[in-house]
Amino acid sequence: MKKILCALCVLCGFHSAFALDRQAFTFTDYDLRIKVTPATQSFEAEGKVSLRNDTALPQRNLVLQISITLAWNSITVAGKPVQYLTESYASDVDHTGALSEAVLTLPQPVLPQATVEIELSYSGKIPPDSTRLTRIGVPAKRAANSDWDRISESFTGVRGVGHVAWYPVATEAASLSEGDQVFASVMAWKERQSRSRMRLSFCWPGEAQLVANGQNAAAAMQPAGLSCQAVQYEPLGTVVPAFVIGSYRALNQPPMTIQYLAGHESYARTWATAGEKIAPFVAQWFGPRKRPVQIVELPDRNLYPYEGGSVLFTPLPGGEEKDIQVVLAHQLAHASFQSPRLWMDEGLAHFAQALVREQQGGRTAALAYMDERLPPLQEAEKEFLPGASGKASGPPPRGQSLINATDEVFFRTKAMFVWWMLRDMVGDDALERAIRAYRPDQDKDASYFQRLLGDQFHRDLEWFFDDWVYRDRGLPEFHIAAAYPRKLIPEDWSVTVTVENSGSAGAEVPVAVRAAQGEERKRLEVRAHEKAAVRIPIPVVPEQAVVNDGSVPEFDMNNNSVEIKTPQTSQ
Ligand SMILES: [Zn+2]
Repeated sequence: MKKILCALCVLCGFHSAFALDRQAFTFTDYDLRIKVTPATQSFEAEGKVSLRNDTALPQRNLVLQISITLAWNSITVAGKPVQYLTESYASDVDHTGALSEAVLTLPQPVLPQATVEIELSYSGKIPPDSTRLTRIGVPAKRAANSDWDRISESFTGVRGVGHVAWYPVATEAASLSEGDQVFASVMAWKERQSRSRMRLSFCWPGEAQLVANGQNAAAAMQPAGLSCQAVQYEPLGTVVPAFVIGSYRALNQPPMTIQYLAGHESYARTWATAGEKIAPFVAQWFGPRKRPVQIVELPDRNLYPYEGGSVLFTPLPGGEEKDIQVVLAHQLAHASFQSPRLWMDEGLAHFAQALVREQQGGRTAALAYMDERLPPLQEAEKEFLPGASGKASGPPPRGQSLINATDEVFFRTKAMFVWWMLRDMVGDDALERAIRAYRPDQDKDASYFQRLLGDQFHRDLEWFFDDWVYRDRGLPEFHIAAAYPRKLIPEDWSVTVTVENSGSAGAEVPVAVRAAQGEERKRLEVRAHEKAAVRIPIPVVPEQAVVNDGSVPEFDMNNNSVEIKTPQTSQ
């Protein structure tokens, strides 16, 4: 049996050398003319795409994928029709869960590093579709509010790969039921095409406006009865091209431009005011803005916001100004600070939100804001739970080091906590200075930011970066091993609190001794699987010792306090 299997392996290996390599080419240049007709939901595209062979072998086959609701009309190379087969290819990088894949057989192989230009035309409809979500059990309404992409009379809004393949791509199949496979696949696609450029020329009937997340350019043509707008992405960077068409008006109020729908001017003003108020605070932390912040209204208040490059697509009505400030803190942080590392880029934008929450309601409000986001992180890290049983069976561990994380719960939530802990450890000034000294083009190795911070703050942080950033060691798990009170002369007490961390990640954590009249706090470094003690003086009779105010994410916050027993008679 073993022999047969091995023989099969050899055959498979042999075969795969000739199998379709969907990642062989990089799409270096898009030049598409697009006509969108909301009344009929139709989408028509024609133009050119250039692809470069990035493998070491000549390539004769080439893959082009578009959403399954679109169909290929023609594909030519140098004006000559080229042989191709089209098939449905299941993948959740499109909202329908399927792509219309054309596999081309080129007349000549494309040599390594050579580029081939393909002329193509495709068309169809882009109706709303949330099949990929409903089939994994997401309730229909939530699925529809999340996958809101469509061309329709009432609303036209379409995001690119990861939502709708409205421009040709080539990706390996990815399924939403396989962890973060879809996200990782889209990330890999974006990274690969980040230096590529895309020029789009949109036309649509009527007077409505088109807003996209690229650079506007003058449209080359303006056919009668159509409105046209050219948009460029040079380079694409990590942006997923997205556009909306509607009766938009613009409110320009630095640092933001808000595209709002008719009748919603007052909402737009609330957003503009909110942004204006917090912009100086965010700039103080993250530096001067390097790009504008653009807000584009989504027409239904139930639709989920979407962050696409410098544009936030979001419903405008309904929010209180304070909550809008928290939302905008994220966008403003992105406008000031950019990094190719997600845990920095997104993590700091989420950290900015917690900082604004703290400005509004103090540390308690900020910790409550972060705590709401904690349960999915505890779930993702549970394989590190002290006493967790073997990991031989079941799905593969989800653990990811922050530095390489592609799962949102890590590079958003865990990163937010890590930035907060660092700030608690080094102080605002040192962290602000390190953040502002950061240069994305100099971020060549994993420890770059740790060095920047080390320049500002002269204490060993290696252990912290090891436990939280460079590796995934789960979360700490604190409890109070002992709390010994001692009466001093005349009225004061001192309590020696011993904290045990049974988790595999160390942290510096606040420890408090409480009494009815108030509390005293100190910070204590408790490394993984270790105990540490701190003496906390308090001028009244101590009643309770508590570890962790919620600023350190841990597995269980319910075993963090003990009552302090003081002798009835003083010695
Ligand atoms: Zn973001």
